[in-house]
Amino acid sequence: MTNKNSKLSIETRIAQALRYLDPKTGSIIPPIQTTATYARDADYKVRQPYWYRRDGNETTVHAEAMISNLEEAKETLLFSSGMSAATAVIDTLNPNAHVVIPRAMYHGVLNQFQAYERKNRLQISYYEAGNTEELARVIQNDTELVWAETPNNPDWAITDISKAADIAHAHGAKLLTDCTATPPCATKALDFGADISMHSATKYLNGHSDVTSGALSVRNQDEFWEAIALNRKLQGTVLQSFDAFLLIRGMRTLYLRYERSTQNANRIAHHFEQHPLVKKVLYPGLANHPGHAIQAAQTGRMFGGMMSIITTGTQQTAINVARYCNVFYPATSLGGVESLIEHRATVSGSDFPVNQNLLRLSIGIEDVGDLIDDLEQALERANT
Ligand SMILES: *Cc1c(COP(=O)(O)O)cnc(C)c1O
Repeated sequence: MTNKNSKLSIETRIAQALRYLDPKTGSIIPPIQTTATYARDADYKVRQPYWYRRDGNETTVHAEAMISNLEEAKETLLFSSGMSAATAVIDTLNPNAHVVIPRAMYHGVLNQFQAYERKNRLQISYYEAGNTEELARVIQNDTELVWAETPNNPDWAITDISKAADIAHAHGAKLLTDCTATPPCATKALDFGADISMHSATKYLNGHSDVTSGALSVRNQDEFWEAIALNRKLQGTVLQSFDAFLLIRGMRTLYLRYERSTQNANRIAHHFEQHPLVKKVLYPGLANHPGHAIQAAQTGRMFGGMMSIITTGTQQTAINVARYCNVFYPATSLGGVESLIEHRATVSGSDFPVNQNLLRLSIGIEDVGDLIDDLEQALERANT
């Protein structure tokens, strides 16, 4: 749908929500379609393409078309959260399927895989995030799915998507990439050979921390994809109308927001790289990050706003830095216009492998001087 302006640049198309224009009224803003059901026509036939809310509606489909444009996908499905998108994929795997996933990753997805394994629904082998040699060692000929989060929480390890895709495909498996931290204005994972591109649209795609949503996009609409769509329909996890409307509005400024976050993050990473109260800055945009070269190619050097810092001192010092910030919000999530700081070990639980002094920063679009000053005073206060 709505590819008629595809000779215009993608920035133009997204800023104009794919040139939406209501022929009846001239409205340039897509409406919020709220109906739960659709009347049949005079011949008692279903009016295409909708017949009931769980299939999606005009508002949701418009948001999906925007993401398909960004991803150059054949089809995108939007869910009520990133987790419901991930769960639809996991739920669609065959009974007792073998999957290969990172040892550490976004904790909700990791917990969901492990919950399915405990119910004997699937078998998991693990690899170190970003380590495609280990991935190649643990994959099996009956592996159905390889999951890669890149950049990977919370130290932003980078996976070479083309390599991971080659390994998966050589074993007849599918590769799903969760590139939530680098939205499709920076990384189009399908270009690098991923079979399914997943994003928590809660994050950069919406960008305003007022919606939860998850997107799956593909270029090949095979049986597995059809089964995922059926799963969404029968579980009723389609993105709701008001949230789809907000997502459409948020995506119009995706390029601007992401560019500003990237600039701010670069400044902050360089400022704190040599700081006496910071042991390490983990940011793929820094030349010393192990994934820097691959990520430069996978994002066109638009490294995004996600980084972590390891503070000096004790775990309590790190927690206090998060507590003493006045501009950064001490909150979970990422990819919004406002900057967030989070002590990861507190949030992900005691059994999750994460450095006790790691603070995850989501850099927003505020004045970068204010952000640097805020971290400076919080580090200072936490160390006195
Ligand atoms: C937030 C997030 C998710 C889950 O998305 P929700 O919209 O919060 O359900 C999955 N993966 C990554 C990398 C995330 O950051």
